[in-house]
Amino acid sequence: MTDPAPFVRFQRVGKTYDGGASAAVRDLDLDVAPGEFLTLLGPSGSGKTTTLMMLAGFETPSTGAILLEGEDISRRPAHKRGLGMVFQNYALFPHMSVAQNLAFPLQVRRMGRAEIKTRVEKALAMVRLEGFGHRRPAQLSGGQQQRVAVARALVFEPKAVLMDEPLGALDKSLREQLQYEISRIHRELGVTVLYVTHDQSEALTMSDRIAVFNKGRVEQCGTPDALYDQPANLFVAGFVGENNFIAADIGGSDDGHVHATSPAGRMLATPAGVHAGKAVIAVRPERVLLEPAEAPHVTRLAGTVSERYFAGDHVRLVVKLASGEEVAVKASRLDAERLPDPGEDAIIGWRTADAHAFPPDRPGAAAAPPSPKELEPA
Ligand code: ADP
Ligand code: MG
Repeated sequence: MTDPAPFVRFQRVGKTYDGGASAAVRDLDLDVAPGEFLTLLGPSGSGKTTTLMMLAGFETPSTGAILLEGEDISRRPAHKRGLGMVFQNYALFPHMSVAQNLAFPLQVRRMGRAEIKTRVEKALAMVRLEGFGHRRPAQLSGGQQQRVAVARALVFEPKAVLMDEPLGALDKSLREQLQYEISRIHRELGVTVLYVTHDQSEALTMSDRIAVFNKGRVEQCGTPDALYDQPANLFVAGFVGENNFIAADIGGSDDGHVHATSPAGRMLATPAGVHAGKAVIAVRPERVLLEPAEAPHVTRLAGTVSERYFAGDHVRLVVKLASGEEVAVKASRLDAERLPDPGEDAIIGWRTADAHAFPPDRPGAAAAPPSPKELEPA
C-alpha cells in the first residue's frame, strides 16, 4: 500500500445487505497495480463476487470508496467505467453470430465499420478462433464459447477486465488449457485483470498476486509463492495448497524455532505467530520426510501407514500418529519400491524450516462476532 496512485484502490470498502444485518465485504483495503493479474480467492460466500460487482458498478459500497486511476468511481454508472467483464454464465447473445457478438461492444461505442471489422478479427485471432466469426454460439463448444466471452470483454480495449469464475462450468482439462490461454492473453496485452475463483490451484497458476478472502475479509494478499511458503494464518495455510495440521503445546523456543510436544511425540517448527502455549503445526504433504535420519533440526515421529494410493505422478501415503492424527505424505514414484504398505510402521518427519507453528485460533477471529447470516447453515 505504498504506491500513492494505484490503478484500482479499494479504500475501507464495506458492503452490507438486509439493512446492515449481514456483511458481505468488511473493511476492504486493496490496491491493484496497472497490468497486474490479481485474483480474489476464497470459499463460496466469502465476498469475492460482491467485491468484483462493486468495482464493475453493479453494486454500490455501503461504506468506503473505490478509486480508479485516482478518481472515486463508487457512484459512477457501470457503462462509464470502461471495464470488460466475463462471468461463468455470462451468456453470449444466442441469436447473433460470434462476429456480431464481438462487434456489439464496439457498436455501442459508435466505432466505424472498418475499425470494427479489424478489431473483431484481431480479437478472434487472440483467442485462436480465426474463421469462427460466422458461427452462432450454439454451434461452439463450452470452451469455445468462453473464449468468445473473453474476446468480447477485451475487444474494446478496456482499462481492466473483470472475470468471475469464467472457467467454472468447464471440465478439468479444458479449464487448465484456458487458464494458460488467459494467462498468455494477459501477458500479450498487458491488460489489468481482476479474476475471481474458489479454486486455489487455478489462482496459484495464473496470478501475479492473490487476495485470500474469508467471511468478507482479506486474510492475506501476496504472490503465489509467498502465500504458499509463508501463509499468514491457519486459514490461508489450509486453503492455499494442502497442509497437515498437528495440535501441539509449545514448551520453549530458541534460535528461531520452537519445541513442541503432543501425544504424537516431540516436534520442532518455525514459529508463525506463536511462541508459547497451544499451537497447530502445519507441514505440507510434499515436505513430509519418510524415515528421516536422526539429525539436528529434523523432527521424527512414529506412526503406522493407514493408506497408500497410486496418484499418477506421485504416491500418496496416509500415516497415523500416536495422537490419532493422520498425516498425508506425497512420495516420489521413484521410491515406490521401498515405500511402506498399509499396516506397516513408519517414521515420518520434517525439517524445522518446513513446519510452521500457528496459533490455534486466528488472531482477530474472536474480535468480529459472526453476523446472523454466517450462522445459518451454508
Ligand atoms: P462469493 O462470490 O465469494 O461466493 P458473494 O460475494 O456472492 O460471495 O457473497 C458474499 C455474501 O453476501 C454471502 O453471504 C451472500 O449470501 C451475501 N450476498 C450476496 N449478494 C447478496 C444480496 N443481493 N442480498 C443479500 N445477501 C447477499
Ligand atoms: Mg461468487
